[in-house]
Amino acid sequence: MASEMKVERELFDEVMVPCYSPMDMIPVKGEGSRVWDGEGNEYIDFAGGIAVSCLGHCHPAMVEALTEQSQKLWHLSNVMTNEPALRLAKKLTELCFADKVFFANSGAEANEAALKLARRYAADVYGPEKSEIIAFKQGFHGRTFFTVTVGGQEAYSDGFGPKPGNVTHLEYNNVDALREHISDRTCAIMMEPLQGEGGIISPSEEFVQTVRELCDKHNALLIFDEVQTGNGRTGDFYAYQGLGITPDILSTAKSLGGGFPIGAMLTTTELANHLKVGTHGSTYGGNPLACAVAEAVVNIVSDPQTLAGVKEREALFRDGLSKINSKYQIFSEIRGKGLLLGAALNEQWQGKARDVLLAAGEQGLMVLVAGPNVVRFAPSLVISKQDIEQGLDKLDKAIASLVA
Ligand SMILES: *Cc1c(COP(=O)(O)O)cnc(C)c1O
Repeated sequence: MASEMKVERELFDEVMVPCYSPMDMIPVKGEGSRVWDGEGNEYIDFAGGIAVSCLGHCHPAMVEALTEQSQKLWHLSNVMTNEPALRLAKKLTELCFADKVFFANSGAEANEAALKLARRYAADVYGPEKSEIIAFKQGFHGRTFFTVTVGGQEAYSDGFGPKPGNVTHLEYNNVDALREHISDRTCAIMMEPLQGEGGIISPSEEFVQTVRELCDKHNALLIFDEVQTGNGRTGDFYAYQGLGITPDILSTAKSLGGGFPIGAMLTTTELANHLKVGTHGSTYGGNPLACAVAEAVVNIVSDPQTLAGVKEREALFRDGLSKINSKYQIFSEIRGKGLLLGAALNEQWQGKARDVLLAAGEQGLMVLVAGPNVVRFAPSLVISKQDIEQGLDKLDKAIASLVA
């Protein structure tokens, strides 16, 4: 039995490294898209743990997979392989361009593997001078030192001493800047197929086509960071499948485990062969518990009915948000794709995304922000229509409270 120590928000300030600033309420239980705090207050969850809880909280199929595996085998390390990891890898390769999978524990680690593979491949095949990584401003790729350096936000990467070198940041969606800059010394381009943390920014068709074309021309690898967009989030299983181009390396995490930590780097056999025995690894990567849960998640999310349901729910969100906007004139635009949506605040509301988040919390609704000017929604992919309606009602009340 866990001890019955009383846990309150003040304890966070006492015992936790202060790199987060969590809300006052402490959730203790969740079911579907509903969450309850220790006082019994109920919340509707439009945040999904930042695009993670793709089947809501405590989905029966996930609980079953976890419970079953927890009575069989928890951990081996990569000195041995295990059945859930192999089944999941097989399934993932069937769902996309990739032939090979490397398992990690998070998005940052999946991206770290992707970047190391790209550098290793270029060094093996073309020589050491081909090492430049091109990435994009406002991009986000995780918090390890390599990934934070490749991410396009200095606030996250600076102040930790010398950074990994030869990383260039260009403007997302700027075709001319990319055309001008890329060269045969470019080893890879890393990008999100829809910038999440950077403000819910979709790429133009011309941009993605040009990125692929220029990578081919200069023998550079294209790395798609699908940590936030993958696993059905945009209505395709992977976002690239809706963009008409295919990357060489893809990273996935967040919704892959639906709430259990797991990440993966996917690639072709040709590229994978450059990570030979001993070149990379992870103690927990491919952990049987994580893989068993992810397998249950992927089975449900990859079902065409689930993916079609994402598009239906997107329409409900867009309708509801437009209605709210016609009442209060607060948004300049509703953007994003599938159930990764951003409501951009208009001129009068600049900088107030966090105010909306806090006001929503007061009404019993959990939402996210993406920077200071965008309210972000990344709910469960199977959230009920009733929960969407009730959540939007709460958002309406929250905004009314800010207008008053
Ligand atoms: C969240 C996120 C990451 C980092 O994932 P972690 O699991 O927090 O390491 C990387 N890339 C993108 C696009 C993300 O949204």
